[in-house]
Amino acid sequence: MPKVFLSGNEAVAQGAFEAGVGLGIGYPGTPSTEIIEVLEKKEGPQCAWAINEKVALEQAYGACVTGLRSIVTMKHVGVNVAADPLFTFTYMGVNGGLVIVTADDPGMHSSQNEQDNRWYALHAKVPMLEPSNSQECLDFAALAFELSERYEVPFFLRMVTRVCHSRSIVDVDPDKAYDRRERAYERNISKFVTLPANARKRRIVLEENLAKLSEDADARAVNVMEITDKDVGIITSGASYNYVKEAFGDRYSVLKLGLVYPLDQQIIREFASKVKKLYVVEELDPYLEFHIRAMGIECEGKKFISPFFELNQQTVAASLAKAGLKSGEGLDPALEEPVPGVPARPPILCAGCPHRAFFYLARKQKVTVVGDIGCYTLGAAPPLDGIDVSACMGGGYSIALGMSINPPEGKKIFGVVGDSTFYHSGITGAIDSIYNKRNIVPVVLDNRITAMTGH
Ligand code: SF4
Repeated sequence: MPKVFLSGNEAVAQGAFEAGVGLGIGYPGTPSTEIIEVLEKKEGPQCAWAINEKVALEQAYGACVTGLRSIVTMKHVGVNVAADPLFTFTYMGVNGGLVIVTADDPGMHSSQNEQDNRWYALHAKVPMLEPSNSQECLDFAALAFELSERYEVPFFLRMVTRVCHSRSIVDVDPDKAYDRRERAYERNISKFVTLPANARKRRIVLEENLAKLSEDADARAVNVMEITDKDVGIITSGASYNYVKEAFGDRYSVLKLGLVYPLDQQIIREFASKVKKLYVVEELDPYLEFHIRAMGIECEGKKFISPFFELNQQTVAASLAKAGLKSGEGLDPALEEPVPGVPARPPILCAGCPHRAFFYLARKQKVTVVGDIGCYTLGAAPPLDGIDVSACMGGGYSIALGMSINPPEGKKIFGVVGDSTFYHSGITGAIDSIYNKRNIVPVVLDNRITAMTGH
């Protein structure tokens, strides 16, 4: 089979295409955006951008109820927006396979927080696959559709920025024709209408299906043991696996978990029994460490590895050196340090951006400005210094409404959102300002594109 060089996002699109996906939909947000952009160029699947992540997930679910396979993409904070239906769709279950891509952003390259969405899998009871390279992105996307249909549950595919945007070699059949997969639709009120009496029954079905899934050979096959040492073993997953291998090569035994919810306790216990000392290497929260300790297995993780920001091979090697682990040849720990003399280059509004004038005048007039998520968030950067508060999509008006009750120094409050953000979730704050008769100046900075959040 020909080998091609694909980014993780391109490989997910290819995997969905090969799985016969009927609908690809999402809300743009770095680092997830390219998945739909690539998929929509392929002949066959119907693709669309939705007005926000909740609407995207609901459309994807509707398509899967009719029997189509559907994939919905969003960045990590987008899952917060989609969380309301998500927690109920797991009870209802799917008909056609439903894959939800959450593209997390450790290190906050282009995000306002670095929330670890593995907890969403546990919390909402959505099984989660976590690829570490582009081949796995393709394979796991296709597997997620199969398992979603086999156990009637939506499936998460958790990506991180490095996996989304890194390129690696993937086997792709260029002659593979599009073959839309479709299951028969059957009206089923007890499943698809979540009256409390139905939901209580579906709650039990969900637990039964998750238990069966955790025994499934195909699901468990993505968890791989590499036994090379009897003293030290490292449990890891996703991008962190690459850092472990680059830092230590084959010096220590490794268990790479591809399925991070539900966890395969059998293989974790087996791996732990084969080594004397166990370490967990994972980015952000101690999600795996927490569960492994809850199983009664001794391990070390966040005692050595930072719980915040991105990891890389140098940070992993340097952190575990404190535990006495030796990294491989050729790893330069100095690379961990910033190269001296290179100035930081934070993003700024484009030269000539018409929105610069707005922030210039707002600052000059000394009004209070509540911003939102988009290009115009950069109005906060010097020399404009034009934003006082900015938090999340749609918050530009709503936070301003609250501040208008007690305006700092009696100054006028401006709520500022972009055109895409206005429709995403800003519009509800605008309606509320009329309903509650609040005294703010609602502003839409219209650039006619979903620019910052989409690229
Ligand atoms: S892309 Fe954003 S920052 Fe650049 S000109 Fe357009 S609105 Fe301004």
